[in-house]
Amino acid sequence: MKGKLVIFSAPSGSGKSTIVQHLMNKNLGLAFSISATSRQPREGEVDGREYHFIAPEKFRKLIKEKAFIEWEEVYPGQFYGTLHSELERIWKLGGHAVFDIDVVGGLNLKKEFGNRACAIFIEPPSTKALEERLRSRDTDNEASLKKRLDKAEYEMQFASQFDHIVVNDTLEKAQSEAAYIVQEFLAL
Ligand code: 5GP
Repeated sequence: MKGKLVIFSAPSGSGKSTIVQHLMNKNLGLAFSISATSRQPREGEVDGREYHFIAPEKFRKLIKEKAFIEWEEVYPGQFYGTLHSELERIWKLGGHAVFDIDVVGGLNLKKEFGNRACAIFIEPPSTKALEERLRSRDTDNEASLKKRLDKAEYEMQFASQFDHIVVNDTLEKAQSEAAYIVQEFLAL
């Protein structure tokens, strides 16, 4: 089947983006779904590559216009969402879309697309490991770090609703496990 969805969700700091990156380099016919966000770009992030960076007013306008397949206020005042136009772009290219999105957004996509979608939850080995990873990334201040940790705890509760759980204790193991799951799904 053409035009599948591969969804990765995880508490932020669980190593999800590294795993997704690894998969994208594997020539599996995958295309990354570039989300829209109202947050500021981090250093090194480029508009249209990691995200479509959109001002909050414009984001709200797009919500009203029903431009999003799903959107979430992932953190208070910070919106993230998947544009219909993004999925159309990928499917026009004949690719399968890969999503790196928050847990609730991931489950919403799964609900909407059913067997056409494979939803994978990346689980950090422990809360302590998660905190260490977020600290070493050093892109957040203390308040923002706490916000992410609180949210991580909340998000862990949803793990069992995903099609697969991959525990990221060793990155290499997690990467090959994820690759195996995705290859099996794409072969269906
Ligand atoms: P960050 O700001 O660290 O890039 O992302 C914060 C969270 O927002 C991550 O969990 C990320 O996966 C999630 N996210 C990114 N894009 C989307 C999206 O399109 N929809 C939803 N619901 N969450 C997203």
